[in-house]
Amino acid sequence: MTRWTVTVTSARSYELAVVGAGIVGLACALAAARRGKRVVVIDRDAQANGASVRNFGFITVTGQASGEMWRRAMRTRDVWAEVAAETDTPILHRGLRLTARRPESVAVLGAFLRTEMGAGCRLLDPGEVRCAQSELATPDLLAALWSPHELRVESRQAIPRLAAWLEARHGVTFLRQTAVLGVETSKVLTAHGVIEAEAVAVCPGDDLVSLFGEAIAAHGVTRCKLQMLRLADPGFRLSAAVMSDLGLVRYAGYAVLPEAQALRARLQAEQPGQLEHGVHLIVVQSADGSLVVGDSHHYAPTLDPFAREAVDQLILDEFEAVFGREAPPVLERWIGTYASASDRTVLIDTPAPGVRLVMVTTGAGASTGFALGEDVVADLFGETRQ
Ligand SMILES: Cc1cc2nc3c(=O)[nH]c(=O)nc-3n(C[C@H](O)[C@H](O)[C@H](O)COP(=O)(O)OP(=O)(O)OC[C@H]3O[C@@H](n4cnc5c(N)ncnc54)[C@H](O)[C@@H]3O)c2cc1C
Repeated sequence: MTRWTVTVTSARSYELAVVGAGIVGLACALAAARRGKRVVVIDRDAQANGASVRNFGFITVTGQASGEMWRRAMRTRDVWAEVAAETDTPILHRGLRLTARRPESVAVLGAFLRTEMGAGCRLLDPGEVRCAQSELATPDLLAALWSPHELRVESRQAIPRLAAWLEARHGVTFLRQTAVLGVETSKVLTAHGVIEAEAVAVCPGDDLVSLFGEAIAAHGVTRCKLQMLRLADPGFRLSAAVMSDLGLVRYAGYAVLPEAQALRARLQAEQPGQLEHGVHLIVVQSADGSLVVGDSHHYAPTLDPFAREAVDQLILDEFEAVFGREAPPVLERWIGTYASASDRTVLIDTPAPGVRLVMVTTGAGASTGFALGEDVVADLFGETRQ
């Protein structure tokens, strides 16, 4: 093991050092700070710039894989509600409407409602959809799933506010523009010196190589690229997030149901382009009325930085099918990336005693991060979950 001789940067010693100031790192910091721990968060960027500010801010419960993911999503949703209140972060809308335009989709939704995760959710008929959100009541609509569990925040606002609140309210120290070059038990080697801490949580997002690259590679983690759009205010207000039946073959909570097979076969025949590019539809609305719309999924260890117009068009085609109207003008386009693994939703590893490597390996860090942070902190400090 390396023995670092660099000068310690700070006279303070910490109980937890967190590498990475995305939602997963901030969640670990919050969980530790709530236990009264002295925490430092170290990030190479001047402000959050990764997946945590590029996402929909859609705290999704319904559709997450059953078991631990769903439990974490329910808990994370509750923590977001607390944090939003404390940080003056608006909850822009609550709940989810997932529209079904094919009988096979209705069958998947029926099966989903019979699982324990269906509690509190229900199937709306077209008349009920018209009353709730008339823009979704297109002639081909058969039904919609209503889920009350979801929240939506504006991530590019929420994440900086969360960090500022952790600093001001919980005394968390932030070291920005500080690359972490190595981690071992009780020590973090940064570009500016060594930080000492009783425990370390490494939350590097989709950086698969800088820290513990071999451990990450051993778990088969790769990266996923998503194309995202912001559309002009359409002139109506969404009271909840919107998804379409393409989501039923992507989100594990639905996709593992036997009924999803028939839907996948039909979508393969009718929308092969969307399936090929991993396109499904999420639409959420911002305070100024603009819509955040996405997305697509392409996988590689090194992803090209190019947003393809044809892929954006597949997303916009689905928007137009679901809303039965032309999509508003595009105001912004961006790509985001996250860590991805085919056989797991999170990676929690112990590369050294007192060190945890923590990665969300599916696109659900905003929806599960706070509970994950609580679990990691409980594990690190040998205390039971709160
Ligand atoms: C386009 C898009 C849409 C999404 N939509 C949703 C959604 O609506 N709901 C949802 O739940 N999830 C969504 N996700 C997934 C979610 O955003 C991610 O799972 C989550 O943000 C991952 O958080 P993180 O903290 O692990 O990573 P990041 O936000 O990427 O943060 C990692 C941080 O670690 C820092 N770092 C890494 N290595 C080092 C180092 N060696 N030294 C110093 N700093 C380092 C980086 O600078 C970065 O700031 C989406 C993702 C994308 C890309």
